[in-house]
Amino acid sequence: AEMFGQLTSGLESAWNKLKGEEVLTKENIVEPMKEIRRALLEADVSLPVARRFVQTVSEQAVGVGLIRGVKPDQQLVKIVRDELVKLMGGEVSELVFAKSGPTIILLAGLQGVGKTTVCAKLAFYLKKQGKSCMLVAADIYRPAAIDQLVILGEQVNVPVYTAGTEVKPADIARQGLQEAKKKNADVVIVDTAGRLQIDKGMMDELKEVKRALNPTEVLLVVDAMTGQEAAGLVTAFNLEIGITGAILTKLDGDSRGGAALSVREVSGKPIKLVGRGERMEDLEPFYPDRMAGRILG
Ligand code: GDP
Repeated sequence: AEMFGQLTSGLESAWNKLKGEEVLTKENIVEPMKEIRRALLEADVSLPVARRFVQTVSEQAVGVGLIRGVKPDQQLVKIVRDELVKLMGGEVSELVFAKSGPTIILLAGLQGVGKTTVCAKLAFYLKKQGKSCMLVAADIYRPAAIDQLVILGEQVNVPVYTAGTEVKPADIARQGLQEAKKKNADVVIVDTAGRLQIDKGMMDELKEVKRALNPTEVLLVVDAMTGQEAAGLVTAFNLEIGITGAILTKLDGDSRGGAALSVREVSGKPIKLVGRGERMEDLEPFYPDRMAGRILG
């Protein structure tokens, strides 16, 4: 199923209700606005976000008539499009690089969201931009996480620093950073342990790793399939450890899009990158305007 399929058709039925109207009024937009709200909720956007969105769109819509040959229903499409872009953060949020020394990117996230895969994808993505990378395996709990990272590292031809499972993650991170400096790597990407749910042990460990590294970027990897919950996770991790942004994975799956729409608004943190598949090349920047374009079909 196309991620935004339902949302797209829900929105379409909102404009369709206004075909032939000469001006948008408080009265004639009531039903279309309900339609928009319903479509957003069905796409897994949280209720407060959907409410605010409809409120903002309504305020701009009332009083709109024919402008330069563009009919009111088509202008509503434009208003919604612009608000969707804003909702998703407006501009692309670029990765930040350190001014001197290696850029350190700490990746966090719950288990199974695609964090280890993202480590290698990100290295591959940065390599294409001419940056040399090094991966650090600091997930010492999930069996095979280290092996998985080593295999993926080989696939993208990026060195992986490992120190087994007996060394503390913060120490592995420190050692990995030393190694990366020796090798003059431009970027160090650190994989950390996830749990099935948020727990204190995981957060404490992440804080310790963060303190040890003083990272340039702390990115939370979230699974788009978790819908509304994604925005809550970004908020929770941000409050606990302080993050610089999110990476949304599995956008190729049958998520309904709510995560892409809500993360920025709810957490205040941008989605910087998105994953759209299992292949190493399936990682790209998050473009709010293109996403809005896809939603409007
Ligand atoms: P981790 O526990 O967070 O480190 O998760 P992994 O990196 O091991 O990924 C869990 C599963 O999700 C693996 O089977 C990955 O191939 C898969 N996966 C990761 N990212 C994506 C994505 O963007 N799309 C799809 N379809 N699968 C993904």
